[in-house]
Amino acid sequence: MANGIFINNNWEQPHAGGVLDVVAPSDGSSFGTIAAGDAIDVDKAVRAARAAYETGSWGRMPAYERGRLLLRLSQSILDNLEDLTALEARDTGKPLRQARADIEVCARYFEFYGGAADKFNGDTIPFLKGFFAATERGPHGVTGHIIPWNYPAQMFARTMAPSLAMGNATVIKPAEDACQTPLALVELAAAAGFPAGAVNLVSGLGTTAGAALVSHPGIDFLSFTGSPQVGQLVQIEAAKNHITCTLELGGKSPQIVFADVDLDAALPTLVAAIVQNAGQTCSAGSRLLVQRAAYDKIVCAVADRFSALRAGTPEMNLDLGPLISAKQLARVRDFCDAAAAQSVPLIASGEIAEGVPADGFFFTPKLYGPVPHANRLAQDEIFGPVLSVLPFEDEAEALALANGTDFGLVAGVWTSDAKRSMRVARAVRAGQVFVNAYGAGGGVELPFGGRRKSGHGREKGFAALYDFSVEKTIVVKHD
Ligand code: NAP
Ligand code: MG
Repeated sequence: MANGIFINNNWEQPHAGGVLDVVAPSDGSSFGTIAAGDAIDVDKAVRAARAAYETGSWGRMPAYERGRLLLRLSQSILDNLEDLTALEARDTGKPLRQARADIEVCARYFEFYGGAADKFNGDTIPFLKGFFAATERGPHGVTGHIIPWNYPAQMFARTMAPSLAMGNATVIKPAEDACQTPLALVELAAAAGFPAGAVNLVSGLGTTAGAALVSHPGIDFLSFTGSPQVGQLVQIEAAKNHITCTLELGGKSPQIVFADVDLDAALPTLVAAIVQNAGQTCSAGSRLLVQRAAYDKIVCAVADRFSALRAGTPEMNLDLGPLISAKQLARVRDFCDAAAAQSVPLIASGEIAEGVPADGFFFTPKLYGPVPHANRLAQDEIFGPVLSVLPFEDEAEALALANGTDFGLVAGVWTSDAKRSMRVARAVRAGQVFVNAYGAGGGVELPFGGRRKSGHGREKGFAALYDFSVEKTIVVKHD
């Protein structure tokens, strides 16, 4: 198992020598340690990245060669698909099927941005007579990346691939709770030929390694995915160093189901959108808004599916795995205890499969409704397999509810009325809207990001290349 902090393509021991336990969520056992890096390790990594960018071969490499390196890494990820899948499943507890899909998406990011690296043009600008004016987009320099534990491999690729494609040198701090695949991926990047200092990784606690990275004056741009609370701290630190950042902070995404929905076609997705990754997905469809005219029929059908859901170990490959940690399990239980105390009706529950280890962090999926709009279940990001149903009368009320939280990440609109689907899609506050579909995760090509408490900036698609680069205008007087 890879270990240490990864600087200049080498594993080093953190200067203070500390380690953190690696825990398997499906049985609570410890299966190794990771290095607990701190501010001194982060400083070393940032200096390595700076040198790679300013004086190393990385900073001089033509875009097409950077692209080739990304493509080589993508292929290497696919060549190691089974090992990476097993590692991701063990570290996060997710079903093997989901872990495999995640590794495939991870490879797709490097493929997509590898192809894009030499195709991101600037513009020429009609200007005054006797002048030539053009823009070019270049790297920021050194970028800092902080990722969460829910999709370690996908998150690594989502933030690192576009940054590397643009020619930035990178330092990443993965999440303490799950960072085995990021540790493996930096090693694969070095083997694929990324020069020393282009890709650096410091594992450790958010409050030490993470805090040191976001406040380091040698960082030119920050990319953060995680909670709104820490996102706010990141933005404050970015402001102190006069740099910009992208923040991807989760959501309370609505799925708006009108009475004329094709229910049979919609059902699997309505449920998968909250159950995928045990609800630990920033874009989880965690609020089900259902039109009163067909409320009973729709909610009964969803309840039937919920009752059939089973949580199990990665090898069982059931509908969902455990939650990531005892802390996350306690957090999700707390929401449900509060709902019970407030007599919010529980419509249906799934089950934990027989034979799962007693010390795993399993939680039964729960369907609540009708949930009052002001209740925490309808307003807060739970990050667990908990779906809240809210009834609505008409399109206006659906939109008021959909837009009635502090978040704005993703939305789903389910209807057979084409005009209405277009109206609602355009009026809902979200970075992505799906009509008669819902894409929790995946979608490498599709620009993705939030509004307000869901964060700002765009990742995925070509849009990410704008965030991971800066525009320069060059004006030449030739007459
Ligand atoms: P979090 O604390 O925001 O963690 C996200 C990342 O930020 C981790 O790598 C974490 O490090 C790091 N971090 C923590 N404190 C930091 C600091 N002061 N400075 C810099 N980096 C810091 O999120 P969490 O506690 O894992 O999860 C809490 C809730 O956040 C969840 O229940 C969920 O609602 C939300 N969340 C959203 C997403 C998303 O994809 N949008 C992902 C995860 C969580 P360590 O964890 O290693 O200490
Ligand atoms: Mg783990």
